[in-house]
Amino acid sequence: MRTVRLKRVIFRSNGILGRGTMVIIVECACRNCPPNQCDWKEKKLVLKMSFPSTTRVSEQTLMDRCKELAQGEHTWVSNHLPNIIWSFNIPFRDSSPQDNFKKKFGDDYEMRVMRGVILEELQPLSSLKTAKECAQVFYDIVQCECSIYIKHSHFSSNGLSILGHHWAWKYPGILHRDISQGNIMVREKNGKKYGVLNDWDLAIWLDNKRDGPTSQFRTGTKPYMAHELHLVEWKGPHRYRHDLESIFYVMLLLVCLYSSPDKKLPRPENINYRYEEWHQSDDEFLYDKKHHIITAAATWKPPVTAFFSGFLLWLIELQRSMRRGFYELGDAALLVPKALNPEMHSFDEGTLGGHLSYESVVSIVHIFEEEELETRGREWQLHLENLRQNQVG
Ligand SMILES: [Zn+2]
Repeated sequence: MRTVRLKRVIFRSNGILGRGTMVIIVECACRNCPPNQCDWKEKKLVLKMSFPSTTRVSEQTLMDRCKELAQGEHTWVSNHLPNIIWSFNIPFRDSSPQDNFKKKFGDDYEMRVMRGVILEELQPLSSLKTAKECAQVFYDIVQCECSIYIKHSHFSSNGLSILGHHWAWKYPGILHRDISQGNIMVREKNGKKYGVLNDWDLAIWLDNKRDGPTSQFRTGTKPYMAHELHLVEWKGPHRYRHDLESIFYVMLLLVCLYSSPDKKLPRPENINYRYEEWHQSDDEFLYDKKHHIITAAATWKPPVTAFFSGFLLWLIELQRSMRRGFYELGDAALLVPKALNPEMHSFDEGTLGGHLSYESVVSIVHIFEEEELETRGREWQLHLENLRQNQVG
């Protein structure tokens, strides 16, 4: 039994669908710890309180699974995941309001539980000092997401045979589904900085075939959600390319709205300038803006601030990949859903025909301002070596 002392609220969510999260700095109160032998004392800890649906797999279960598999060549993955130290659930009382709602609405009503998780404290993106550090963090997030999600079959289109079949089972098959500026964090360890994909509350396990209500497909933090998710008629499934699209929007908003990682630009007079209004807008508006970016001509050039100028090339190349992919997906009438276009059956919708795959994104973001960033996983190092050899030959 542990007792913790609450210190300070450092985060309170707003605009996140279907839940509210609070993060509080805590320290061990050492009520039951042997004198001078508290194993929590050296750690900087936070308590995260959230209200997930009772049917949702807990973040701790997902992370335990990831860490269990992050062995051998995959140990690097742990540097990019939250370190959960403790977690607990507090069910609501029987006579609570939600109990009454459940009686009224039956299966349509999702029962929620209060969940507390104690984690090692991470630093926000605003703690970074240089554009290159930011670039590395984004690249880390792509690598981490990929290693958590990827299955062998997704590599085969590029003939990447270094991943033998025995690798397939090793990947946990988890999709994050809520990539936002607030969920990309930084871990400092032995003087090095690592991008951490935090907050796996809305993640899904792809092996878990139990489908929840439709409302559960559409998750995320609005300004960063993939554009399709804003459509009323969108019924899933959530694909990893949706998470890649989210990373694109996190990057876009950061490098256009901030003059450095910790300085947001003053709000301009003209509200339509840049992306200020994305944080207060509805689905229709956001779909429109994002669709506009994706389908924009090759001359699309986001207003990247001077500090982040190195990101311009990344954004342009990522936009081109998405544009090509969606163009092929919807052919002439851009963004027509596949169901309406039966001739597209051979098209790999998961990666938009390879245009929005982990490989295509890694090939863009492993270099920043002509400098090679750190590629963490051996399989990606080999993949990039192969790419370079092919380019030379
Ligand atoms: Zn203690």
